[in-house]
Amino acid sequence: MTTIPEVLVISSRNVILPGFEQPQAATIRVDVHTGIIVDILQQYLRDEPSGHHHLKTRWINAGDQFVLPGLVDTHVHLQEPGQTDWEGFWTGTRAAISGGVTTLVDMPLDCLPPTTTVANLQMKKEAAEGQCWSDIAFWGGIIPGNQAELKPMADGGVKGFKCFLIDTGTDEFPWVSESELRTHMEELKDTPTVLLFHAELENPSLTGCHPQKYGDPTVYQTYLDSRPEEMEVAAISMIVRLQQEYPSLHCHIAHLSASTALPLIQTAKRRGSKLTVETCPHYLSLSATPRFNRHPEFKCSPPIREDQNREKLWDALIDGTIDCVASDHSPCALELKKLEEGDIMGAMGGIHGLGLGLSLLWTEGKKRGVSLAQIVRWTSEKTAQLAGLSASKGGIKVGLDGDLVIWDPNAEFEVSKKDLHFKNKLSPYEGMGLRGVVHQTFLRGRLVYDRKQNGFDGLEPVGNLL
Ligand SMILES: [Zn+2]
Repeated sequence: MTTIPEVLVISSRNVILPGFEQPQAATIRVDVHTGIIVDILQQYLRDEPSGHHHLKTRWINAGDQFVLPGLVDTHVHLQEPGQTDWEGFWTGTRAAISGGVTTLVDMPLDCLPPTTTVANLQMKKEAAEGQCWSDIAFWGGIIPGNQAELKPMADGGVKGFKCFLIDTGTDEFPWVSESELRTHMEELKDTPTVLLFHAELENPSLTGCHPQKYGDPTVYQTYLDSRPEEMEVAAISMIVRLQQEYPSLHCHIAHLSASTALPLIQTAKRRGSKLTVETCPHYLSLSATPRFNRHPEFKCSPPIREDQNREKLWDALIDGTIDCVASDHSPCALELKKLEEGDIMGAMGGIHGLGLGLSLLWTEGKKRGVSLAQIVRWTSEKTAQLAGLSASKGGIKVGLDGDLVIWDPNAEFEVSKKDLHFKNKLSPYEGMGLRGVVHQTFLRGRLVYDRKQNGFDGLEPVGNLL
């Protein structure tokens, strides 16, 4: 097909619509020029209604296959500009759409320069231009002394700001102390934005992450001992305390791993704090076992903990203590993983997993009675809200963008390198049997991924900077 259709119509017996726990029969119409959903008929149509044939319509009868809204992944490290041997906009966004993720929000660190000034934000935007297969937005960064850049960066489009309470391992993105953080919170308190925390605090009274104190660097438990749950608990206590000083400011805890922090979060939420919490597919689908030994691909911070912890995270997600799930796709060049040495303590951390999240959550969620509607809320609706994108993303609704995913919930596959579309093809999920496959992904009504056509053949990147 050479001409781009003017209208996309997808009909299915199983559409995940906002407000419904069960999949609904529906026919969705998208105006491809504006990219917006213009009509939803709550009825399954086998054939294209006559009278519409004169329009250049792409008609898709999805039958029993499911139709979901595109996912919004608010935690990815695309590393570009500056560190494109780790990841890049082209490969990262392709990995996203192969897994039904149609919007990414990029983290401000691991790229060079980091997104901590207006000028650096501009460089980000220029680097992304023309390369994105998904839509993309940016988080800004908070580092000591950059408070004067925050409001101009918010005006320049960043959706919120990420800070670290512990050493990031990179010189360009230092962590902030409590007093420095107060300066930034003071600056942002009247701005409608969100402050995201890497919530681990190195407390001198704890053992802390001093590898030399520990045992065998190839044993996973050594790493686990170096980043105990108390570090997350200490950070989150500080955040909820600061939030009482700045109640107007929305705070968000990125990648929660420690279930022992859940009571603190529940108390803060009951008090009415503007606090949201995210966890990640790796904390929900993996748990620490001796098979992690000598396998640095399982290393991330905070670490993946034991099985009991994982079950508590699932419970907290289901009861709403945890609001959403994002990938924290945080890749690096393979040589930094020290795979041959199996040196977990010496390896660069970060999970490579963008594109597999939906299948991971569905496979593991199903065992715990979770519905696709719940997964969509955690990965699309809530994450769109977090990034202030609810006016265009996060659900199948008239007026929102026509970001749609055709999904077979029953298809099974074993994860292998051919399923990894990101740059550095290594993942802790390789060899895992998963359920649920994306057949096609549409971005604002345009086909951007088609599994049958080798994924991307004959298609082009049409992602926007949001
Ligand atoms: Zn991250």
